[in-house]
Amino acid sequence: MARFSGKVALITGSSNGIGRAAAILFAQQGAKVTITGRNAERLKETRHEIKKSGIPAENILAIVADVITDEGQMRLINDTVRKFGHLDILVNNAGGALMDAQGRVGMDQDISVFDNTMQINMRSVVTLVQKAKEHLIKSKGEIINVSAMAAGHHGDPIATFYGMSKAALDQFTRSSAISLIQHGVRVNSVSPGFTKTGFGEAMGFPPIAMKKVISFYESHKECAPSGAIAQPGDIAQVILFLADRTMSSYIIGQSIIADGGSSLVMGMHAHDMLDILKA
Ligand code: NDP
Repeated sequence: MARFSGKVALITGSSNGIGRAAAILFAQQGAKVTITGRNAERLKETRHEIKKSGIPAENILAIVADVITDEGQMRLINDTVRKFGHLDILVNNAGGALMDAQGRVGMDQDISVFDNTMQINMRSVVTLVQKAKEHLIKSKGEIINVSAMAAGHHGDPIATFYGMSKAALDQFTRSSAISLIQHGVRVNSVSPGFTKTGFGEAMGFPPIAMKKVISFYESHKECAPSGAIAQPGDIAQVILFLADRTMSSYIIGQSIIADGGSSLVMGMHAHDMLDILKA
């Protein structure tokens, strides 16, 4: 029997990057999956990738939705339960770092950047968990949040609001884990380091710029001790581990760092990413 057979997983932000990789793995390992994002074309691509590995179309539900809206969240939960009958695994992965229209960084960014960053990386997770809770309690399910290395104890003078939103998410992971384990639901999270996804593009950087940053980090041991920036699948495997009670049942409210050792040295912060792009 496949590892997640009989399970239903809802993965937010699965139209690209880490979420797409996780959705493909869950489906390949037997789960019925709800995939979602705002971009219908990219969502189709995820669906196509899943079907390419021989998964029947009836195991996939694709929903175009903005996860910060109540309406979008209600459709995600209600349509999933209507189609598959229950919900076992919620992966709160949708997120990203937002840019200031004036190009300012750190604490000088417009306060709207702070509000919007908190809304997608933090508030939407709280409200989606509130809506999904009754279903996850019924199934004694799992919640996996996707945090970031940026939530760690070091400061980040560039992506300040992003790091703050993920640090708040970590605290939510810990606190909600205590509340929900009383009902048999586990909450954990993964904190990825720099990962090759659409993250930079979503911030407005062209793919060539991200290639330059990645190549710089991979050739500087103080940025990436392992000499490699993560592939989305590296992070997706941790998500599956945390969703698999036979493997991780005694892990409650933790964030597993998967960053190739970057946060042990944090040399990335010794270099201004905007200067790397200018060089
Ligand atoms: P991508 O940009 O590749 O994927 C982000 C996903 O989030 C997309 O599917 C996007 O879908 C979705 N998303 C963003 N905003 C919304 C919204 N308002 N409503 C619905 N969906 C939304 O980046 P990653 O895969 O890298 O990001 C996934 C998670 O990993 C994020 O939480 C990010 O913070 C975290 N992370 C990433 C790191 C990295 O280096 N890549 C490092 C550490 C953490 P669409 O555009 O279709 O709406």
